[in-house]
Amino acid sequence: MSTHSEPLAHLAAELDELKAAGLFRALRVMTSANATRVTVDGREVISLSSNNYLGLNTHPRLIEAALDAVRRFGAGSGAVRTISGTMALHEELEEELARFKDVEAVLTFQSGFTANTGVIPVVAGEPDLIVSDQLNHASIIDGMRLAKAPRVIYPHKDVATLRELLREARERGRPDGSGAYRSILVVTDGVFSMDGDIAPLPGIVEAAEAFGADVLVDDAHASGVLGRSGRGSVDHFGLHSRVAIQVGTLSKAIGVLGGYVAGPLVLREMLVQRARPFLFSTSHPPAVAAACIAAVHVLEDEPELIERLWANTRRFKAELARLGFDTGISETPITPVMVGDAAAAIRFADRLFEEGVFATSVVYPTVALGAARLRTIVTAAHSDDELDACLAAFDRVGHELGLVSG
Ligand SMILES: *Cc1c(COP(=O)(O)O)cnc(C)c1O
Repeated sequence: MSTHSEPLAHLAAELDELKAAGLFRALRVMTSANATRVTVDGREVISLSSNNYLGLNTHPRLIEAALDAVRRFGAGSGAVRTISGTMALHEELEEELARFKDVEAVLTFQSGFTANTGVIPVVAGEPDLIVSDQLNHASIIDGMRLAKAPRVIYPHKDVATLRELLREARERGRPDGSGAYRSILVVTDGVFSMDGDIAPLPGIVEAAEAFGADVLVDDAHASGVLGRSGRGSVDHFGLHSRVAIQVGTLSKAIGVLGGYVAGPLVLREMLVQRARPFLFSTSHPPAVAAACIAAVHVLEDEPELIERLWANTRRFKAELARLGFDTGISETPITPVMVGDAAAAIRFADRLFEEGVFATSVVYPTVALGAARLRTIVTAAHSDDELDACLAAFDRVGHELGLVSG
């Protein structure tokens, strides 16, 4: 028996469904650096769509460090870290990050995503339990899926429920009656990537301490944004030594690419033995490590960048509110502009693009149904004129589409 159909016909059918539902994503293509003014699909626009919080991706010190590393050490690293792919630059970056974060040791990964899928299965095995915030990032969810540990989810930022779940887990032990959990890991984003709200870390840490659990904070959107010189949410709340594991990204405010896990030396040593993305995927090109080292130095040498990021953020949020927009529950530079209806959000983004502003719409299933929004981030690099131009476009298009009145 044979069936005659096009190869991968099932994918074509699924794509048709996505298109019919208006959920098909086309990629916008950039032909400039990802700075504040970008050329996208052939049009020059002001971008509010990057995670490049401090403008570091085009900072002269990062560019020079990357060029120098390419000339001296070549374009690629040539192997995984555990074979011959550990260069002095990789270890230097880890030492710099450990010093910066004030922890014993750091291990870098190819991305923040692989940091989470690497660390969570190593820390939480079959005898352990993972307790996770409902709105944690996809890479945490995948890390949990790869872990052998059972998991429970607590409602977003709900410390009281988290406490109850921890109490129950400690009192009852494993559901099959086989005794107590060996360890419990509480996992949370430091800053949540869609709403820009901050995890209630002091309450989470207290609850974890009360029931002998460890805490993992994923600071992808807090690295370079919160805390002294951008040391992250643990530093922001003064919780040093009370959070066992800090995951960070080098791909957002740091301006390059990569992720890292910061914590006690035993953690780093175990990750080197067991973390699968570390063991089975090639290490960063030398230019990436060198640029990241330069970025850590820039964070320490140029505190004005973070000041400017927050000044721009405060101004942008205040002006949007004055124009009548709802910016949700954000406490950080991630500024959602709430729309509600998915089609309206997509239309809003399209019209803004025509008016010279690149702000991306985010719709279900990335956010809840009825919570469609534009997701914007202003950076330290945006000038006053650029922000004014963006705000004027929001005002014009917002009125045109009936999203604001007055
Ligand atoms: C972006 C993000 C990541 C992934 O980081 P990359 O370095 O881009 O892979 C992980 N966790 C959170 C919370 C993020 O927002």
